[in-house]
Amino acid sequence: MSISNRFLILKNEIPPKVKLIAVTKSQEPEQILKVYQNGHKIFGENKVQEIVRKKDLLPEDIEWHMIGHLQTNKVKYIAPFIAMIQSIDSLKLLSQVNRQGEKHQRIIDCLLQFYIAFEETKFGLDIDEATSIIEDPTFHTFNNVRICGVMGMASFTNNKVTVKKEFNNLSEIFHFLKNKYFADHDHFCEISMGMTNDYEVAIEEGSTMLRIGSKIFTNS
Ligand SMILES: *Cc1c(COP(=O)(O)O)cnc(C)c1O
Repeated sequence: MSISNRFLILKNEIPPKVKLIAVTKSQEPEQILKVYQNGHKIFGENKVQEIVRKKDLLPEDIEWHMIGHLQTNKVKYIAPFIAMIQSIDSLKLLSQVNRQGEKHQRIIDCLLQFYIAFEETKFGLDIDEATSIIEDPTFHTFNNVRICGVMGMASFTNNKVTVKKEFNNLSEIFHFLKNKYFADHDHFCEISMGMTNDYEVAIEEGSTMLRIGSKIFTNS
């Protein structure tokens, strides 16, 4: 089956109000264009170098989402154009995104990345760390970032019960933060969860944003 067909079948399965980020890591512009040509404009990458390289080879109206671990010293390369940084995992990083946003006269949309998996290898915050970022005295001075919600990755397992619990936990974190800090912020509305192997469960648990790569780009 072609990339285009796999994309259209997937798109058809996803409720219209759930956004799809087509994850293009290890894909070249030729493949990415096959999805773009179906009218899709939102793509995600997990490496700064790859976003910067592919962006220049592809149409300008693509919205690029940074979904991988981001080093503070690399924010400057994506700050001029990035549509959303989904992987905020420290105050230092958020502060640097704000500084770069200021420099480029943009407000950069961000998600707080949470650590929800039982595996030890994933990046992300726990609720206490997130709270201390939000309650830090500098936080309200960040006029060039906008916190739009949360992001997380479930454990890499076929155990649907585990995955469901982890996504449910992320949903609860979202609602806790929404009620406590962002009740008046309409833009705090995103729960980014769900990949090729677990997007159905993610939708059941309230995902508003799926990040899917292999199911679109790889023949299985
Ligand atoms: C690679 C990646 C995805 C997409 O994974 P697939 O299993 O290929 O759908 C989603 N989110 C992040 C953070 C990733 O690195």
